[in-house]
Formats: sequence, structure tokens, C-alpha cells
Amino acid sequence: MTLDNFNFKGKKAFVRVDFNVPMDENQKITDDTRIRAAMPTLKKIIADGGRLIIASHMGRPKKNPDSKFSLKVIVARVSELLGVDVKFANDALGAETEKMIAELKDGEALLLENLRFYAEEEGKPRLPETATEEEIAAAKKEVKEGQKELAKKLASYADVYVNDAFGTAHRAHASTALIADSFDADHKMFGYLMNKEVSAVDTLMDNPARPFTAIMGGSKVSTKIEIIENLLTKVDNLIIAGGMTYTFVKAQGGKIGLSICEDDKLDLALEIIEKAKKNNVNLVMAVDAKIADAFSNDANTDYVAVDEIPEGWEGMDIGPKTAEIFAEVIKNSKTILWNGPTGVFEFENFTEGSRAVGVAIVEATKNGAFSLVGGGDSVACVNKFGIAEEMSYVSTGGGALLEAIEGRVLPGIAAIKG
Ligand code: AMP
Repeated sequence: MTLDNFNFKGKKAFVRVDFNVPMDENQKITDDTRIRAAMPTLKKIIADGGRLIIASHMGRPKKNPDSKFSLKVIVARVSELLGVDVKFANDALGAETEKMIAELKDGEALLLENLRFYAEEEGKPRLPETATEEEIAAAKKEVKEGQKELAKKLASYADVYVNDAFGTAHRAHASTALIADSFDADHKMFGYLMNKEVSAVDTLMDNPARPFTAIMGGSKVSTKIEIIENLLTKVDNLIIAGGMTYTFVKAQGGKIGLSICEDDKLDLALEIIEKAKKNNVNLVMAVDAKIADAFSNDANTDYVAVDEIPEGWEGMDIGPKTAEIFAEVIKNSKTILWNGPTGVFEFENFTEGSRAVGVAIVEATKNGAFSLVGGGDSVACVNKFGIAEEMSYVSTGGGALLEAIEGRVLPGIAAIKG
């Protein structure tokens, strides 16, 4: 079922959203992007005359209740954005909450307290560090059983289930995946945000327009290896950038000075180079680097060949020749994935490379390419450069997006798609 094809009039809808917004020490929301991202779905249900039950997690509470992680503090913001006075259930479970749900009228909304107050939501036991192996095993079994119960209980609240929480789609939690088993195919669906994310990933992974270029930046190869392996079977061009460059350079005998390097991944880097050749993937790597004599924005800088970094200096960003090469490849692409900056973009003096990549993607997108930016730091990059609007799609789900690109089946998606 799709959201647009369903009339919510008089129906109770359980909508799982990701309202895990960042807050300051006074529990003031510092960025409400996630709340705003769920609004189209919530507004459609309210406009239909549906009865909205909104559920989310917040942070990683370790007990129930845990006031530091209460969703109560976001009720006002949700109400303001939704244009409806949202009621709040102090507990996701219990007679009082069930009464509030039963009394919900058409066009009204109720936000449940943080689902993760219950360990059963994640299905992970909370045990003291002193717990024995047997205690851990028993608690794991118990919490898994409890997880099924919780999913059934939450499902009993509603006539229809909507999942709009892409950020947690890679987790098989009670409210993100297990709950869907209690609804037939006509009564479970993705929200608009989830739908956009899923179709963006599908555009990229199934039948992308070619040439398909992925730009993988960031600090380490080790954290990106599964994505790189999967992309080597999909892309035409793989641009390697960021800190992981130097592991590749060292593996090929280059001099990298103090640059960040994973010495235990040198063989892996060579394997990636071989695999790219075998798969006819054009592996594009830096030829020059902007180097610094300290890991600081105020360090002395210079530009050198990427494999000629002097002792005492480190590669902090790509150099201008590399930026030009990368931009050329990007501009000639029809599908583009960008994950990870080309350098230490947090320092103003080392943002040029990432900016050049961003600008090239903007140009390619204007010329009809599909561009997807995902993973925390590249999203921060496009926001910093003010070009987020000019990308085809900027993903809201860091971990979930990366797992999807690794080629994994996301439980939250499979639970609805089947
Ligand atoms: P990741 O979370 O793996 O995407 O890595 C992002 C981080 O990589 C950012 O904080 C960057 O500062 C860092 N990074 C990118 N290039 C370099 C580099 N040449 N040296 C050290 N860190 C880098």
C-alpha cells in the first residue's frame, strides 16, 4: 500500500518517525531537520481525518524512565509544525496510554514517550557489567521474547502502520520492523520520507544511468571497505579521497610523511586496486595533496605530489591538480554518489577539495545527472557550502544509507516491501 492510495479518515495510524533530534544541555532542540522531514507524512494523515499515534526513539536511554531522553520536550515543536495540539503519553505502554488512544478523535495526534525506555524496543538486554555468560544468554532470550510482545502491543494500538524512520531502517527493532508482521500488505506502508530514501537508493543501485561515479572520502578505508567492495561491482568510476588516500599511496610505495594511514590495511588497498582493474572500474586517486606541518588550521601549508610528502608533514586535502581531475570525472557522470569529504573540511584552510567536488556535482546535476549525498560528513559538507538544495537528494539516514549501499537488506524496508 502507498500513503497516497490510503484514506486515513477515522483510522488510527501508528507512525514510526525518527525524532532523535540533537539537543543542547538545556534540552533545547538545536536542529529540527528530522522533525520537519516527517511533516509531509503526518500532515497527510491529519488532513485525511486520521488519528495519529506518533512513535520515536531518542538517544540511548539505559533505564525507564530516563528524563534526559524524554520526548516531552519536543511536543511543542511538533505541534507548531503540524498545526495541531499534539497530546503526549508519558509512557509508550499502559492503561493510561491505551485510554488516550481510544479517545483520539479524527484529525488528532498523540506522541508516545521514547520507545527505547523499554529495552525490548531494541531487543538488547540491559545488564550490569558483572553479569555472567549464563545471565547474559538468559537475558538475551527473555528480551527477544519481550520484543515480540512489545511489537504486538504497539500494533494493537492502530489500524494501519506507517514507517517514516529511514534513520533506523537498518535496525530490526520492535517498532521499526517486527510490528509490521501484525499488519497485512494493505495496512502497512512507507511514509513519504522513507519512500524518497528508498527510491533514491534504488535509483543508484538498480540500473543507474551511466557513467556512475562514487566519491568515497573520509578518514579510513577500514570503515568503508564493505561499501567499496559493493561499489566495485556497480560503478564505472570510483574516486578515492580523504584520509584513506594515504593508505593506498603507501601501499604502492609512496612517501606519505605523517599522513593518516592504516598500516594493517596496505594489502587490502592493493586488493582493491586489483579488483577495480578486474571489474573494469576506473579507480581515480589523488595526484597531489595540500599538506600541513601540523594537524591545525593555522599550520604552514604547501602543495606536493601525493607520493612525495616530506617527513614531518601530512596530507590534509587534495591538491588543485587532483581537484581538476576529480571534477572532470564528476562532470561527465550521469549518476553520482558522494560519501565523505576529500580532506579535513572542519578546518577552513582544508575545505577547497571538498568544495570543488561539491561544485562539480552541482554542475553535473544541473546537466541532468542524479546525485545522492549521504553519510554524516558529506551532508555536513554540502550544508556548509550551501549547496544541499542543488543535489538531487541528500539522505537523512547515515548508517541506514551506508548499509543500503553495502547491498544489505534493511529490516525496516523488508518488513514492508516483503
Ligand atoms: P568519515 O567519518 O570516515 O567519513 O570521515 C570523515 C572525517 O575524515 C572528517 O572528520 C575529516 O576531517 C577526516 N579526514 C578527511 N581527510 C583527512 C585527512 N587527509 N587526514 C585526516 N583526516 C581526514
